[in-house]
Amino acid sequence: MGDIVSSVGRFAPSPTGPLHAGSLVAALGSWLFAKRDGGRWLLRMEDLDTPRVVPGSADDILRTLEALGFEWDGEVVCQSDRTDAYGAAMARLVTSGDVYPCGCSRTEIARAATAPHDVDDEVPYPGTCSGGLPTGKTARAWRVRAGRGGPVVFRDGVMGEQAFDLAAAGGDFVVKRADGLFAYQLAVVVDDAWQGVNQVARGADLLGSTPRQIHLQRLLGYPVPGYAHLPLVTAPRGGKLSKRESAVSLAAGCDLVRDGGRLLISALEFLGQRVPADAGNLPCREILALATAGFDPGRIPRTGGPFPS
Ligand code: GLU
Repeated sequence: MGDIVSSVGRFAPSPTGPLHAGSLVAALGSWLFAKRDGGRWLLRMEDLDTPRVVPGSADDILRTLEALGFEWDGEVVCQSDRTDAYGAAMARLVTSGDVYPCGCSRTEIARAATAPHDVDDEVPYPGTCSGGLPTGKTARAWRVRAGRGGPVVFRDGVMGEQAFDLAAAGGDFVVKRADGLFAYQLAVVVDDAWQGVNQVARGADLLGSTPRQIHLQRLLGYPVPGYAHLPLVTAPRGGKLSKRESAVSLAAGCDLVRDGGRLLISALEFLGQRVPADAGNLPCREILALATAGFDPGRIPRTGGPFPS
């Protein structure tokens, strides 16, 4: 009989503002995927992008999660304490020749882009510096060589089979930024491996990041976790959600003693889960326990929409 590996999931908010309807869905979804087989649910503060960190929001997110009945396993890990680990992973990539310094500015890359780019944040990199820094350029960021090994294929627990051609989706991507900070893609991969995370459930806005992360996991010899990307909460009339307007946090003035249960029920409905009609009156912890026992990932819709009110 083989070993039974139970899930290790995580919620990894960026402390750039209060918890909102979208991040509540990510917290709940990652909790359900981790806890359905009695696994562990870890919490990681992704406070690496220091210019975007809002003082006080990490604490607000933690207090809000507690008020909603969530309990995380172990200590909260803060990415700002983990720079040495990212540096060590980076050094390995430098030694193996998988990364190279890049001297291009955003404007130069945008100018060189011939095709309309992916929905994602990065303009496809044309590979200008991949053969060595051209004369006259100084190193700004570091990029990892991507997309030479054919498409990255994985099965997403919600979105189904996925295949991404990294070269077409953005090319060689940044692992260390021009401002000297390690990029999200590298940090998340180092931390998920170090924390033993084997189940990543998060918002579908990160679906396009997953092939990049799998690419880095392969280069660094890390195991590849299972992935599940959750539908996105949109504004009531469609379009992008305003995070401030949809805040569900204590600091934003929400009365979670009165409304916490209702918020959890709405998030469960959003994730397509069946909820007993009178569950809204129960304490948050009991709602979470009921939801965990009845969790059916097959009912999670692939398409997002407004948060039920
Ligand atoms: N910190 C990211 C965010 O708040 C989530 C990263 C992840 O789950 O991989 O959007």
